Amino acid sequence: MKTMTPEQLTGQVQTHLTEFAPNRLLHSDIVADFTALQQAAQQQGFTLHIASAFRSFERQRLIWNRKYSGEVTILDHNEEPIDLGKTTEIEKLYQILHWSALPSASRHHWGTDMDVYDPTLLPQGQSLQLQKSEYTEGGYFFDLTQWLIENIEKFGFYLPYQKDQGGVAQEPWHISYFPLAEKFLSQLELDLISDTLMSHSVLGKSLIQQELPTIYKQYICNVSPRSSFS
Ligand SMILES: [Zn+2]
Repeated sequence: MKTMTPEQLTGQVQTHLTEFAPNRLLHSDIVADFTALQQAAQQQGFTLHIASAFRSFERQRLIWNRKYSGEVTILDHNEEPIDLGKTTEIEKLYQILHWSALPSASRHHWGTDMDVYDPTLLPQGQSLQLQKSEYTEGGYFFDLTQWLIENIEKFGFYLPYQKDQGGVAQEPWHISYFPLAEKFLSQLELDLISDTLMSHSVLGKSLIQQELPTIYKQYICNVSPRSSFS
C-alpha cells in the first residue's frame, strides 16, 4: 500500500508529484491512467484539460485567509455575497467551507485530484468560471460531464463532489483517482490536520480547532460514493 508522509498529505512538499503539463502537477502514479482517460476522451471529441491539479498548503492558506479576512467576497449557498455585518463567525466559517477546503485538508494537496474542462467547448471570449451552470444541463460542458460520469471509472477516476451532500458544494469538474485518494483520505487523520493548522498562520484557527470533529466528518470525509466501481 502506498503511504504518504504527513507533509505530502498536507501539501507541504512536492516529492510525490510529476509535472504533467506546465504548472499542472500530478501524483506520479496516476500519470499513465490520466493519460489513458485523456486519450479516450479525445476519441470522443473531447479535449480534456486540467484547470487545476496539485495545490500546495501555502496556496490554499492564502485562499483561505483572503476569504476569512473578507478581502475576497464570501458566497452563500446560492452564490450570493454574504453580508459580514450580519454573519456570525461560525456561520462565516461554514459558508467558506462550502466552497473552499481547509489548508492541510484539500484533496488537491495529494496530486490525485484535479479540476477538468474542455477549452474547445468554451464560447469565444468566454473564460473558464468553474461554476455549476457551465457543467449542468444547458451548459457548454454538459456533454463532457455526461461522458465523464459514464466513463471515468474505467480509468480509476470518480467524482467525489458529484452531489452536494450537505458539505462541500457540487463540483462536477472535480475528478479524483479513487485507488490512491481513498487511501490518502484514510491516512489524513484529524490530529494531523489540527497540528498542521495550529503550527501555521491560518485565520480562524481557534474556531476551526473547536469545530474540527464536525468539519472532518461533514466536509472532509463526506464525499459522494462511486456509482459503479468494481
Ligand atoms: Zn477541485
